[in-house]
This record gives sequence, structure tokens and C-alpha cells, in this order.
Amino acid sequence: MRLRPFALVEPETVPEAVEILARLDGEARVIAGGTALVPTMRLGLVTPDRLVSLHRIAGLSEVRVDKGMLEIGAMTSLSALVRHGIVRDGWPLLAHAASRVATPSIRSSATLGGNLCYAEAASDPAPALLCLEAQVRVADSVGERVVPIGEFFTGFYETAVAAGEILTAVRVPPMPEGARAGYVKFCPRSAEDKPLIGVAALVTLDGAGRVSDIRLALAGAAPTPIRARRAEAALRGETLTDAAVRATADAAAIEADPLSDLMGSADYRREMIRVWVRRLLLSLR
Ligand SMILES: Cc1cc2nc3c(=O)[nH]c(=O)nc-3n(C[C@H](O)[C@H](O)[C@H](O)COP(=O)(O)OP(=O)(O)OC[C@H]3O[C@@H](n4cnc5c(N)ncnc54)[C@H](O)[C@@H]3O)c2cc1C
Repeated sequence: MRLRPFALVEPETVPEAVEILARLDGEARVIAGGTALVPTMRLGLVTPDRLVSLHRIAGLSEVRVDKGMLEIGAMTSLSALVRHGIVRDGWPLLAHAASRVATPSIRSSATLGGNLCYAEAASDPAPALLCLEAQVRVADSVGERVVPIGEFFTGFYETAVAAGEILTAVRVPPMPEGARAGYVKFCPRSAEDKPLIGVAALVTLDGAGRVSDIRLALAGAAPTPIRARRAEAALRGETLTDAAVRATADAAAIEADPLSDLMGSADYRREMIRVWVRRLLLSLR
């Protein structure tokens, strides 16, 4: 449980950081808030020779709106995100999901970029960003590319960010006109735990009260955070009746592919997905 020696490098620009990551003398890792990385280093699960801190890079902690899109720098702490007036007013789903992460002390160090790159299936912000159809900016030695959040989580603790690359920002389109949205997190032990399962939903109704757009995303329901596309299809065009909502919740539970761990079995997770999808959709009705 002790930290092995490592070098800490603090570049001042993204190209400089990428160049340091690319050096061949030993393993290098990006460090943001350190809330996930440092415990894994203590456990000896990763043993980097060099940590590349992003704290000194100007602009990576900025939150701004650009042509209607919310742009959040990767180093924005979750607590700054939760407090930010622009986010609370325009993207309350994201502000609320981020506010459900762990404790105030974790949120003050943990960054949005770190949360996404850590890529836990049980991330609170991820389902909200999946519903909002966010995009992620990734920088490498050649330049920058944009990855839709739906293609970002590639496997169990794996993302589209390759070794040597840096997630620089998250771009979030505006909420669809008239949409209702919510996030619920179920923790059987303590409200400050990681979610056993998390459910985010964004629903738009047409003039006749039928669902014209439904986006449903789950945490803790598969090896990665996922959109529940088949459950969405079950509700599209329907009115939010008890029966339609129940059928959608059943579809989400069937579509999920949860893992068993110390927090709960796959069967229990599946059952909780059924319960919490139904409760969230009824609350949005
Ligand atoms: C006690 C505890 C409770 C928690 N509870 C919750 C919870 O309820 N909900 C939840 O969602 N999460 C929870 N978490 C996880 C927490 O959200 C993450 O630890 C945190 O968001 C990671 O962010 P960080 O800035 O500290 O990342 P770091 O620990 O610095 O980094 C995490 C990983 O991402 C990489 N990385 C970081 N930033 C970048 C970047 N910009 N580009 C490329 N790679 C990068 C690092 O190399 C490392 O591999 C909990 C963690 C702890 C310790």
C-alpha cells in the first residue's frame, strides 16, 4: 500500500504534455485530481515512472458556451461543474448527476476528464452525458479529434483515449426544446457510494402527449455506461402510460448486461434497473 517513487512533470501546454507522454523512458500517466489514480498506484495496480499533471495548463479548467454548445475543460472539478451558473441553468441534468458523485471532498479534487477517462461502469456523470449526446475532445501529437460520447467507452475501464493522448474538453449540445430530464442513482449502502445502478433519462413529448424523443442511459448496468436503445424504441411514439413505462423498464432490464461484484449480483442490478427506470420515467410524466 505504499507509493513507489515517480517523477512529477507539470507542462504548461497540451502539446508539451503530449510530447512528455510520448517519451520512451518508462511508463507515463496523466494525473488530474488523482482520486482514482493514486489509490490504484498505492495498490500497485499501476506503477508509472512519470506522472504528467495537467494542472498548470491554462484553459483546461474553463467552462464556457460556444455557439450554443457547453464546453467544459477536462480539468474542471466536479464541484466547480455543480456550482457553475451556466451549467445549472442550461444543463441541469449534468449538474445534478455530477452533484451525486461521492462526497464534497472527492468532488472538489475529481475532474470531469478524470471521471470519464477512469471509465467506471458506475460513473454518475456518464449517463447524463450519454443522454445529452456530448462529444469529447482528444489531443495527440498530431492535433485534436472529436469523439461522440457514444463511442467513447470501449470496454471495461477502457476508452477511446489511447496511451499518449489527453482528453482536453467535453462539448455538450443544448437540451432539446421542451425536454424533461432526470438522473437517479441507487446505492443500497450509503448515498455517498458509487451507484449500484444509475439511470438518466431525457424525454420530449409532442403536442399530443406522445414521446417524440427518448434518451435513456444506464450506469452499473454493463461493463461500460450505456444507452438503452431497445428500451428507448419501446417508448418512442407512446404516451407515458403506466403500461408503456413498465414495458420500457422491462426492456431496459433485459437489455442490460450487468456484472456481479461485492455491491450486488447481476440479477439484483437487473431488478433495480427495472425499478429505477420505471420510477424515473413516472417522475418525468
Ligand atoms: C471514495 C470514492 C468514491 C467515489 N464515488 C464515486 C461516485 O459516487 N460516482 C462516480 O461517478 N465516481 C465516483 N468515484 C470516482 C471518481 O469520480 C473518480 O475517482 C474521479 O472522477 C477521477 O477524476 P480525477 O480527476 O481524480 O482523475 P485521476 O485519478 O487523476 O485519473 C483517473 C484516470 O484517468 C486518467 N486521466 C485523468 N484525466 C485525464 C485526461 N484529461 N486525459 C487523459 N487521461 C486522463 C488518469 O491517467 C487515470 O488513469 C469515487 C472515487 C472515490 C475515491
